[in-house]
Parts: sequence; C-alpha cells; structure tokens
Amino acid sequence: MTQYRSFINGEWLGASDSLPNVNPSDLSDIVGEALLADEARVTDAIASARHAFRNWSLTTPQQRADILDAAGAKILARREELGTLLAREEGKRLPEAIGEVTRAGNIFKYFAGEALRVGGEIVPSVRPGMTVEVTREPLGVIGMITPWNFPIAIPAWKIAPALAFGNTVVIKPAEAVPGCATELVKILAESGLPAGVLNLVLGPGRVIGNALVTSPDVDAITFTGSETTGRAIAAKCVETGKKVQLEMGGKNPMVVVDDADLDVAVNAALDGAFFSTGQRCTASSRLIVTARIHDRFVGALQQMAAALVVGHALDNATQIGPVVDGRQLQQNLSYLKIASEEGGQVFGGELVERPTKGFFMQPALVTGTTNSMRINREEVFGPVASVIKVADYDEALAVANDTPYGLASGICTTSLKIAAHFKRRAEAGMVMVNAPTAGVDYHVPFGGRKRSSYGPREQGAYAREFYTIVKTAYVKA
Ligand code: ADP
Repeated sequence: MTQYRSFINGEWLGASDSLPNVNPSDLSDIVGEALLADEARVTDAIASARHAFRNWSLTTPQQRADILDAAGAKILARREELGTLLAREEGKRLPEAIGEVTRAGNIFKYFAGEALRVGGEIVPSVRPGMTVEVTREPLGVIGMITPWNFPIAIPAWKIAPALAFGNTVVIKPAEAVPGCATELVKILAESGLPAGVLNLVLGPGRVIGNALVTSPDVDAITFTGSETTGRAIAAKCVETGKKVQLEMGGKNPMVVVDDADLDVAVNAALDGAFFSTGQRCTASSRLIVTARIHDRFVGALQQMAAALVVGHALDNATQIGPVVDGRQLQQNLSYLKIASEEGGQVFGGELVERPTKGFFMQPALVTGTTNSMRINREEVFGPVASVIKVADYDEALAVANDTPYGLASGICTTSLKIAAHFKRRAEAGMVMVNAPTAGVDYHVPFGGRKRSSYGPREQGAYAREFYTIVKTAYVKA
C-alpha cells in the first residue's frame, strides 16, 4: 500500500495515525494511506522553511527558473500517470484529470518565466542628489491550505509563484487528496529544490491547518476552500499580522437572453454546471433565463443532462465522475430536497448504481426557482444547477448580481451591446461571454469579489502582488 508522508527539511517522515485515501469511483479501491502529522511536525516544518529562506531568498532568478521549468517538464511528461492518480483519488474523469495535470505543468513553466520578470523602478527623488529605488523582495514563509477539488492545479498555482519569487513554503493539502500533493512535492525535490524550501504536512485542517495559521513564524497564508473556514482563517491572520489571500465559494450566474444562440447556451450551461461533477467554485449554478427562450433552453438542457453518462472516473464512456465523498453526496441530495420543498421542480439527481460501489449521482436541474430560495443563495458544490426565469435582460442582470458571492458571471447573447453592458456591470472577478463560467486560462488573474475572495488575485502576472513585498530604497550619490 502506498504511504503518503509529511516532507520536512528534505525528509519523508512516518507517523502513528493514518487515514485511508479512498477512490470515490470504487470504495473497495484504497489508493493509499496518509500518515498524519501532529502540531509538533508543523512547528518543525515551519522552522525548516524559515531556515531555508535565508539562502533561497538570495538565489538568482535563473536558479529558481531552472528548477520550476524542470518541474513543469516532468509534470507534463507524466501527465497520463498523474492524471490517473488524480482521477482515482478525487473522481474527476480521466480526460479532465489529465487536463488538470497539464495545467499544473504549464503553470510551473509560466512561473519559471515570471521569476525572471520581477523588475523594479528607479524614481527621481524630490530631494537633490537622491535617487529612489522601488524593488520587490520575497515575503518569507508562506503557509498554504488547499481543497480537494483541484488536487494538483491549486497546489501548483500557489507553490509555483511562491518559489519563483524566492519564498519558502509549508503546504497542507485537503485530507481527501494526499496523493497528488505528494507527487508534486517529489517532482520539485527531484528538480533540484534545496531541502527545507518546500515542506508538506498531511493532516486535518482544524489541527494542522490551524497550527499554520496561528504560528508567529509564518508570514502569509494562502487558502482555497469553504467560506466559513476562510473567514475564520482570515480573522486569525489579522490577529497574528499575516498577509492573507482567500479563494472561497461562488454562486455563479449564467444569463441566457432571448437572442442567444441556443446551442451555444445549452452547451455552455451543460459544461459550466455539470462537468467535473459540478465541483468547481466557478460552476454555473444559477441559470438565469429570459422568458421567450426559457422553455426551449430548459427542454434542450434537460434532454442533454439526462443523457450524460455518470460512472467510474477511469471508464472511457464516463462523462460525469462520482461525487468526491459520502458527506458531499448527502449535501447535494439535501439541497435538492430543500429546493423541492421550496417549490422548485427537480429533474435528475437520482443515485446511480454502477458495477463498482461509488458516490454516483445523475446531474440535477431544478426549474421554477426564484433567486431568494436557498438553492440560489448557498453554494451546493455538486452537479446541481437551478433555473430562474426572468422577464428581460435588465431583470437578468439584477438577479445575477443579487448574491453575496462574486467569483464568475456569464452571459450568452448574440448582441455586442448587451455583452458589453454585462461585462461592465457584472459584480464578479471574472466574466464570460458565450462560454461556461468555469474553465479559465492559467496565465491571467483568477479571483472574485464580494464574499468569494479576499486579498490580492492569484495566477498570472498579478500573483506577484501576494508573493512579494515592496521595498523603497533612498540612495544619495
Ligand atoms: P471543504 O468543505 O471543501 O472540505 P474546507 O474549507 O473545510 O472545505 O477545507 C479546505 C481546506 O481547509 C482543507 O485543506 C481543510 O483541511 C482546511 N481546513 C479546514 N478547517 C480548517 C481550520 N479550522 N483551519 C485551517 N484549515 C482548515
């Protein structure tokens, strides 16, 4: 049985407690076993990162770029094998899993380049004989807490910029997905990363994650996960004076107006709502549809959703993999019950039996909903979307923005005027026109507004805002 261990100062460490890594497509398939760190291990990991920071922060951009580039190449070369591991431990179907691994590889290659592009400014002083230099320096030890839904891409988009700019890292991945994080850390170690620069601790969030968040020796925390956990973490970061970045939930609207191309709209909704089993924070979970196209849109979407093949993540015929675990499956079903009690009509959502025992459910579409129903206020995080019928574009825009969240917002229209208006008025960090709200590029900023995000953006050139700190130097000739 594969054992996943914490990695501190270049060593893989044992532990007495463990947690099985269960395949959600086949509960009899135990992918491995995570040996769980305790708080003392977290302290060691932070000390190791602190010690390594002294030298790593003074390496040249070329040294860091070479390591990141080599890691990116290794990830890309192993994408099928790592994709298979990802599909087994998280349940994403194989092509989606390979796509995620490819994204992780590309992110490392992108940030290899970013290591060379830090730059700075020389500013004439207001005082005679003085010059002002504005430079960026690494921040220090970065604590990372990551979720289960993108087990390699999210660690990649946090680790790559942190290392590119000369920081050291302690990462705690979600309990459900220790395998991908372990492989990623191994690849970086094999690519020449010095001991202590990247440390991995495995264990429960409320113990191991909390130890990272409360430690006075961690300079910053980057977190992706649920809103409740994120808010509690942010408050603790403020208490201990840490820089903090949070990516949390979404309740992303996708507006379909009367002039939309029906095929484009239905395919965008199908992908945005249900692909990756709807387990994306950018999932199109509120489909806001104007009156004249509503029935045609709903009819076509129901037909296509009912035909989606749910099954084992490694089965070629599968279009929708399993839900990640039993708790999440129960949450999905309970939201369908609530939606139905509130007056929505539920299509699909049945539990599905397959040759292997797993957490399979048919995607569900809830029609006849209003924006005040719980199904439209709270994040479900499964293959569940609801339809809200509205009179016209103006009402659609108002409903789209009437949410505490603001991650992604989409519209399907053939009108340039409506698209331009929506892009400007959507209260979201990302706006998609004639495309699903989920599915983003790896080289541009990712993040939201309102309760979805907190702190600087992740990814692309904007990642340096979080992972560097500015220094202003005054030089008298
Ligand atoms: P989910 O409901 O998807 O599991 P969470 O926000 O609970 O979302 O989990 C996201 C990440 O946060 C995981 O790595 C988890 O272990 C970690 N986590 C959970 N609770 C805490 C906590 N109190 N402090 C720090 N990290 C936590």
